[in-house]
Amino acid sequence: MNATLQQIAQRIKQAKSVVIFTHMRPDGDAFGSALSLSSALGDLGIQNQVCVESDIPSNLAFIQGIERVRKTPEGEFDLLVTVDCSDIQRLGALSDEFVIATRKKIDTVNIDHHISNARFAKYDYVRECSANCMNMAALIERLGAPLTKQTAEYLFIGLLTDSGNFAHDDVNEETFALAAKLAAAGVDVRLYNYQLFKKQPKARAALFAQVMSGIRYFFDDRFALITISQDAMKKCKADHGMTEGFVDFLLNVDGVEVAASIMEIKYRQYKISLRSKEYADVNKIAGTFGGGGHIRAAGCMLFGDIEEVIDRLSYAVSQYLE
Ligand code: 5GP
Ligand code: MN
Repeated sequence: MNATLQQIAQRIKQAKSVVIFTHMRPDGDAFGSALSLSSALGDLGIQNQVCVESDIPSNLAFIQGIERVRKTPEGEFDLLVTVDCSDIQRLGALSDEFVIATRKKIDTVNIDHHISNARFAKYDYVRECSANCMNMAALIERLGAPLTKQTAEYLFIGLLTDSGNFAHDDVNEETFALAAKLAAAGVDVRLYNYQLFKKQPKARAALFAQVMSGIRYFFDDRFALITISQDAMKKCKADHGMTEGFVDFLLNVDGVEVAASIMEIKYRQYKISLRSKEYADVNKIAGTFGGGGHIRAAGCMLFGDIEEVIDRLSYAVSQYLE
């Protein structure tokens, strides 16, 4: 049911112990959303824990306090909050925990910014904006928690990640207004810019070189794709987290409207990342395969032989090219 931030803040304040879940293969906005809320609840003296099903990606291991994040909840809790998560499946292994909690009549809250959000909780707050951390900042204000430097840093990590360093087309006055507030709270803007968009291990540079040497173009260069195999990742000693930004590089090629990265997660299982430049709705393209996200950035999973996966994907993309 759609709820206001005011209602959600009230419900949270009544909780004794809160569990915060975010989506599998978490990014900066997932951790930023979860940890900012956790930090604010801590400041209010409300017991809480953060869970995500996946390992911590190496590129985000620098985040302060990330070692507190668990794979499954511990002990009793009376409120479950999901953040930056468009549907229950996106919780991965934690989707079972969500279903169990619902059966036990534990209240659930869903705070998200994805256009494809399925409104799956008792209290849903979904508002499209550059980063879910913008929704979190508004909630934290409603909770009456102080904007400490630590909370501001978490919010900034999400804001910077999902706005693509303030470059995506949903960036507006409100995005910058929050950035200004966070800078005033003491966030080291240069540091996070470096950590999230510049710093990389040698393994990533090696993988980047290998993957980009195999860019494939379709439909008069309007669609470009890269494939990232488990073999290439092993050879370069790279991991999944290191591929962040690859698909965006592809999109910057002149003429490309839709870019895709096809990453092998397991044998015959591929995680697809889609981006578009000007008009194509990649949320709809991902939606044809059960995924989703935003109009300019979305994802889904595809299964089977790699060349068949490419055929299916390029056919779906062709339907959205002008
Ligand atoms: P990325 O390509 O960076 O992993 O994700 C881009 C956007 O699409 C993010 O907002 C992410 O939440 C969403 N997304 C990525 N993969 C999936 C998926 O398998 N299912 C859904 N519903 N959304 C996804
Ligand atoms: Mn997000």
